[in-house]
Amino acid sequence: MRAGRLLASLPKASFRTLTPGRSVTSLGPLAAAFNAKPNGLSNGLAQWGQEKTGLFGIEELSTSEGFYHMKAKCIENASALVREACSDQRTRNVAVIFDDLSDELCRVADLAEFVRLAHPEQAMQEAATDACIAISGLVEELNTHLGIYTALKNSVEKGDLRPETEVDKHVAKLFLQDFQQCGIHLPELGRRQVVELNDQALRLGQSFSARCHAARAVKADFLPPQIRSFFPLERDGSVVVSGQHIDSPDDLAREAAYKIYYSRDGEQEHLLREMLTSRHQLAKLCGYKTFGHRALTNSLAQTPENTELFLKGLADQLSSRVAGDHEHMQQMKKRVNPMAGPLAMWDVPYFSAQARATMFQLDLEKICEYFSLGVAMEGLNELFQSLYGVELVVEKPQAGELWSEDVFKLSVRSQSSGLLGFIYCDFFARASKPHQDCHFTIRGGRERADGSYQDPIVVLMLNLPSPGWRSPTLLSPSTLDNLFHEMGHAMHSMLGRTKYQHVTGTRCSTDFAEVPSTLMEYFAADPRVLARVNRHYKTGEKLPESTVQMLCATKKIFASTELQAQLFYSAVDQAFHSRDPLPEDTVAALQGVQSEYHTLPHPHGTAYHLRFSHLVGYGARYYSYLMARAVASAIWQHGFQQDPYCGSQGRKYWAECLAHGGGKPSHLLVSDYLGQAVTQPAALAGGLIQEVDAKRMEVERASARR
Ligand SMILES: [Zn+2]
Repeated sequence: MRAGRLLASLPKASFRTLTPGRSVTSLGPLAAAFNAKPNGLSNGLAQWGQEKTGLFGIEELSTSEGFYHMKAKCIENASALVREACSDQRTRNVAVIFDDLSDELCRVADLAEFVRLAHPEQAMQEAATDACIAISGLVEELNTHLGIYTALKNSVEKGDLRPETEVDKHVAKLFLQDFQQCGIHLPELGRRQVVELNDQALRLGQSFSARCHAARAVKADFLPPQIRSFFPLERDGSVVVSGQHIDSPDDLAREAAYKIYYSRDGEQEHLLREMLTSRHQLAKLCGYKTFGHRALTNSLAQTPENTELFLKGLADQLSSRVAGDHEHMQQMKKRVNPMAGPLAMWDVPYFSAQARATMFQLDLEKICEYFSLGVAMEGLNELFQSLYGVELVVEKPQAGELWSEDVFKLSVRSQSSGLLGFIYCDFFARASKPHQDCHFTIRGGRERADGSYQDPIVVLMLNLPSPGWRSPTLLSPSTLDNLFHEMGHAMHSMLGRTKYQHVTGTRCSTDFAEVPSTLMEYFAADPRVLARVNRHYKTGEKLPESTVQMLCATKKIFASTELQAQLFYSAVDQAFHSRDPLPEDTVAALQGVQSEYHTLPHPHGTAYHLRFSHLVGYGARYYSYLMARAVASAIWQHGFQQDPYCGSQGRKYWAECLAHGGGKPSHLLVSDYLGQAVTQPAALAGGLIQEVDAKRMEVERASARR
């Protein structure tokens, strides 16, 4: 079991029937709800005489005390399940008992993790933190429990009491691999070393991350006088460089900022090197060739070798295309400054942003007025109805159910099979809320022993400005992309109908987990979809077709350059995690990767990777973005490019890709849906290259029409 997933008990909030009345406003109930200023009285705050419940409808969470009870009950139930798994009188298969155990732990740990991060009240945060610590301690204990490990291992190797399906066998194997990744199969000394190395890697990773975004001070006279004013001057005469200055139109200022910000840092190099070494040793000890081989077990890519084939395939075909983009940027650079030198690393973000802002001369502020949050939600609803026959319905929460009055509760209902689950939309920024867009599983879907289905519950967290009295929240093109992306995660959870909660919805390999969300970005960038989604919040007017075309084309400017940046980051991550032996000198390794995967030269004296904090969190899995994009692109072309609202394709994709969660190996899931040939690493790379070419043509067509 992995800590950090949860399942809460069934909410007492009655499963209300559909909210009636689509006719109140011409925009529909979702648009009306999401565009209104949140009102605590109408949205779940206590009213006189109204029945009260607790968070997420869990009665005992009406006060923070509830967490202490939940924790105690969880520990008690977990030990009963451990006894059952180890008993020779057991009547259930070990995997089924394990899933119950995982459910017990996750329902408290995941809920507590969310509350710890997002609840505005200190008492709740503290109680949740206490529960998090207690449950992760228990999980750690269970990860080294030889009794349950032996029972599981025997059942995987010799078969279990009751007949097993492919899914049963796959899930049992996943549980077993989780154990073996922690070295449980090793002798006592080895097990202890694994724990130590894990701790060490964790601590080093935290220290490395903490220094990744630190500003750097240099003496003012280190900078040429004409650019000193671009940087804040300290009292002691030093200037502080806190980022790349990618918005600065001055070539020299960008160059100086880049070279100072990314200059080498001995302490950081040391921390990184030590972290990579601990990870490498840990993987070796557990029987893997490298940390990358360990991290990619059960992934879509399957092995670092496949990942490398994929990345190399991209690099080979990308450089000639990037050259075209760079030529264009070089001309832009010369126009600003005829004496400018050749294009360099610090120019790319600046000219990319410039091109996006100016190529089609779109007034983005005006355009945002056509994309209010309510209109976007209504558009998503229409899309899901067409694709899956599934509707988003605004629910009235019970008093006490929400942690903040501006949270919306949606139920997801299928025309054929009724309620599928709940999405709590925590969309608006507030003090002390984490500044990231993310999807939390609060309760995973699974088949219960009595044959009923435990519906999933998730929270989507965004940081949008709240609606005002006069105007709703308006979305920029990139915020609209984010909303579509996150809703892709939520629907992956809602549409999963897995037997086990261990593999519900997004609980699958990192690279596959990003596929459904990335696919949603293809919908958000398609003119036929945006033509239906937009509507002015005041006048109800639609954008002209040509504006929608240009808006979609804007997202595709310099697509090959953007792809190359992601390719470079992915290759750096692989070079550090998937080579045996590890590279001695990380700066030299970075230079090697740059010359192989990037078209621009490595700026002497710089060390980009020392600020690449994703090396810690993703560790060998940063490529997931690109691979998910490649697979999503193939799915888009296969199923939706012809008609983004095609119901038969939507239902096929649901049944073959989304319904399984992680219950089927992700590479099989994708190859069964798309066909074996499409999912080979080289073919996936080829698909992304085709897409880059199609995007370039779309930009050219839109420019010609301007
Ligand atoms: Zn995502």
